[in-house]
Amino acid sequence: MKTDQESDMSTAVTVRCEAEATPLVLKTVDILARTLRERGGLETTNVTAGGKGAGRADVVLAIEPGIGTEGFRIESQETPGGWRITGNDERGLLYGVGRFLRGCDLGSLSPLRDAGLAYSGRLGPAVPRLPVRGMYFATHFHNFYHDAPVEEVERYVEELALWGCNALSVWFDMHHYAGIDDPAAQVMVARLHAILKAAQGVGMVVGLTTLANEAYHTSPVALRAEPFPHHYHVEICPTRPGGLDLILKWRREMLEAFADLDIGYVWIWPYDQGGCKCPDCKPWGGNGFVRNSEAVARLVRAVLPRAKTVISTWEFGYWEGDPEWDLFYAAMARHPDWVDYIMAEGHGDFPPYVRKHGPPAGYTLLNFPEISMNGMWPWGGFGVNLQPARLQKVWNTCRHWLAGGFPYSEGIYEDLNKAVCLQLCWDPDRAVEDIVREYAAGEFAAAAAEDVVNAVYRLESNMQHSVSGADAFAKQLHSGGGGESVGALYGLPAVKEPERPLALLDGAAARMSPRARQAWRWRLLWLRAALDVELSRSGGQATDRADAYFEEVNGISHADGAEWAVCAPSRRTLKRLL
Ligand SMILES: [Zn+2]
Repeated sequence: MKTDQESDMSTAVTVRCEAEATPLVLKTVDILARTLRERGGLETTNVTAGGKGAGRADVVLAIEPGIGTEGFRIESQETPGGWRITGNDERGLLYGVGRFLRGCDLGSLSPLRDAGLAYSGRLGPAVPRLPVRGMYFATHFHNFYHDAPVEEVERYVEELALWGCNALSVWFDMHHYAGIDDPAAQVMVARLHAILKAAQGVGMVVGLTTLANEAYHTSPVALRAEPFPHHYHVEICPTRPGGLDLILKWRREMLEAFADLDIGYVWIWPYDQGGCKCPDCKPWGGNGFVRNSEAVARLVRAVLPRAKTVISTWEFGYWEGDPEWDLFYAAMARHPDWVDYIMAEGHGDFPPYVRKHGPPAGYTLLNFPEISMNGMWPWGGFGVNLQPARLQKVWNTCRHWLAGGFPYSEGIYEDLNKAVCLQLCWDPDRAVEDIVREYAAGEFAAAAAEDVVNAVYRLESNMQHSVSGADAFAKQLHSGGGGESVGALYGLPAVKEPERPLALLDGAAARMSPRARQAWRWRLLWLRAALDVELSRSGGQATDRADAYFEEVNGISHADGAEWAVCAPSRRTLKRLL
């Protein structure tokens, strides 16, 4: 039941939407109202999409071309205390609402209903500089994208749009399945549909990630590729008789399963599953991969005529040295008509070969920032993975070649890294620290921002987490013990002054609303700092308290069935997996 104060209409936010009520505009109004309610406890009234109605409004939404593609403008209105958000187009309006919401201090400790809505972010126009501001969800390993209730994933996609994200790619990872008709494969097709439709609902162009020669686990042994170390050992050699035919048959079935969506990108990927080391395919990236990719790209053109093909160079030079780069560049020098974009970025670094030679002539690059794996194993196991300083460093080496990019995401524990990448593509000149500050003020509270920024950079420099005693734990477990007396189970060699970030976050929390302190973004950040303290005190030994923290991470990430790479390593989880 509402109290008198809560039902007092004078404390509600009045929103007037002057833009035509298209599905995306309605969605934008809905996201604005929902966020004000859930994060700030503020109800909205007079939501009149398409209406010009007169009278006072706290927030006016409008669309007016002329600002710049996907841009927006935020102004204070003639009405005292009111704001006007004008999108150049529908997407621009949504991105303007995103920035507006981050500037309203919704996590403030002082109840907003008393003070009224107050935006203190930047005013004036803002226009994105790079056209492709994407995200890649690795939908596998029973990570968040694979296992969380799909409504949570859809919600998360919508929240990424508020940072200017305009593209989303997902992976139908074949090796999990027997074939396209495998009931489990059909479940995944349906799930990916839901995620991609949610993305389209907030104006994103959607894409499919593929490995050039990937396969179901039923692939004929005689056709299988000579494996690289990270293979699933089901990949197909495209040079063996019948190999490419089977690759294309299975790919066609898979593309057709998504043909009802307006697919905008199809990526063709070389490694780290994928590839073939046989003499006829070697060196893969410049030889077998190019032939394989051309055949797949032509198939993509036939099945999904509007899709652009993105050729990835992931791990080029990693296994086969510079010759595969040389041959790949020679192939691109012939300007093949089946390549639209080239994607570059390896494990945490922009490829030295591309830095030295520049991109292949005539092609724009998309980057593929590593935001999920660096400094922590399992990847999100100890709470947040934070990489703002490293992302700034890598960005500075490649930004001048990019049309945008798709950070590689294994879950929600690196949400801050995503905001950094999306906003660097929005404004390549912006300092990452400024983005971190906007994130802290927007997701937590303005009064918490400085302490959070300080804690974030400390936590980043403290990352090098692992379950260093996993083998000893497993050995004891399998010899009938409980794995309880292993000694140091966790390794955190880079952690220095662990109490400091936790104290900063606890100080910040005291300036945040109870709602903001309960939100999962805050919990994952706080749990990371708390785990660093707890495991430093215990000398890396498991404790009941650490287990409770790990279990909370597992709960937030829906990681109860997660594979090792994406689990939070409580003792219970280790017993399940080892
Ligand atoms: Zn081969």
